[in-house]
Amino acid sequence: MGIFPFPALPRFLIPVVLMVRHRFFFTKYRKRMNTKNMGFDTKLIHSGAFEDQFGSATVPIYQSSTFKFKDAQHGADCFSGASDGFIYTRIANPTIKAFEDSMAELENGYKGIATSSGMAAITSIYMALLGAGAHIVGTASVYGPARGVLEKDFSRFGVEADFINTADIDLIKATIKPNTKVLYVETPANPTMELSDLAACAAVAREYNLVLVVDNTFATPYLQNPLDLGADVVLHSVTKYINGHADIVGGVVVTKEKELYDKIRHCMVYMGCNMDPHQAYMIIRGLKTMALRVERNQENAMKVAQFLEKHPKIAWIKYPGLESFPQYELAKKQMTGFGSMISFGVAGGLESGRALMNNVHLALLAVSLGGVETLIQHPASMTHAAVSREDKEKAGITDDLVRLSVGIENIEDIINDLAQALEKS
Ligand SMILES: *Cc1c(COP(=O)(O)O)cnc(C)c1O
Repeated sequence: MGIFPFPALPRFLIPVVLMVRHRFFFTKYRKRMNTKNMGFDTKLIHSGAFEDQFGSATVPIYQSSTFKFKDAQHGADCFSGASDGFIYTRIANPTIKAFEDSMAELENGYKGIATSSGMAAITSIYMALLGAGAHIVGTASVYGPARGVLEKDFSRFGVEADFINTADIDLIKATIKPNTKVLYVETPANPTMELSDLAACAAVAREYNLVLVVDNTFATPYLQNPLDLGADVVLHSVTKYINGHADIVGGVVVTKEKELYDKIRHCMVYMGCNMDPHQAYMIIRGLKTMALRVERNQENAMKVAQFLEKHPKIAWIKYPGLESFPQYELAKKQMTGFGSMISFGVAGGLESGRALMNNVHLALLAVSLGGVETLIQHPASMTHAAVSREDKEKAGITDDLVRLSVGIENIEDIINDLAQALEKS
């Protein structure tokens, strides 16, 4: 019996040697820079990247559905987990893994799970944490489909959901039932900008043994780190600030611990919610400039908010960076910046808001958010159209609410555009 490189190896040592050999072979070209103690901006650029055999400066697109095993034993080791080699892209892929590793580091979590979209991240989490007879409590003004999929689809499998104002901690406690498993919080919430106190929500989750899931899309890991405040799971629609260029749809989940990671990854893989390598490559490219973009986004947003607040045609405005914002103190406590989402109402209500949206030239009349371009939309008839009138009212999504995602264009151009459109509304 002979096996390279030890001709007379005792039989019981063969698997050990194979494992070590495979591990060496497959990690040799996957050395990562250690950015653990470096700044956030450095992590954005270097954290997930690994060295390949050509010394590529960027993570290449591994456009391969499947990966060759070195031999039968290695294939078996990959499946058993004894080797961390790649198997099949729905399960894992080097380009996608680079993005996941980066996100885990940026959110101070255990590991990341990249998904085809933000909704795929959300449904993978629901699938992993809920089942027949389970109950979830969520923020009333969450991203519309995050609520709709529970009320219309998961309800068919016996999952119960209550959407309430999660800024009210006593109301959360009063809504929790014996079968409640998950507290699902979006802060700042879409589109009301209402904040929920994450540390207080985490305390409730501990007390009632719930999993606290936070949609951190509006804030980004640059401005808010829910896992540090006690959340168990954080998710993003990568489509927004993380990719930032309005050219890709994607999502990601990061968990604090291994157990939840394993459960959610299992559902992602088995339901086929995986990201694609090309998508991951584009997102990694966008991610590198996220800090710069978000800084400019929010600097512009503050100036736009100040302009709108003083404008005679604006009836009301919600921006966490304004001192008039009811939860301004909470924003300062749990976020390191105020972001670039603004909601407001034009005096004259819905018709005036419509006129504003029809008369802007620079801002694009489009849904989505968090890109380099300024976007304007009307949640009641667009992103939240599927939410019933009654639920919209309860969630504070009024008919006159106009949502603005402030881009990184020249600030004077953004303000001039809004000013001329407000003249006509
Ligand atoms: C856009 C969005 C989602 C959904 O993400 P997709 O990438 O569109 O699937 C979820 N949550 C928030 C807060 C969002 O803005």
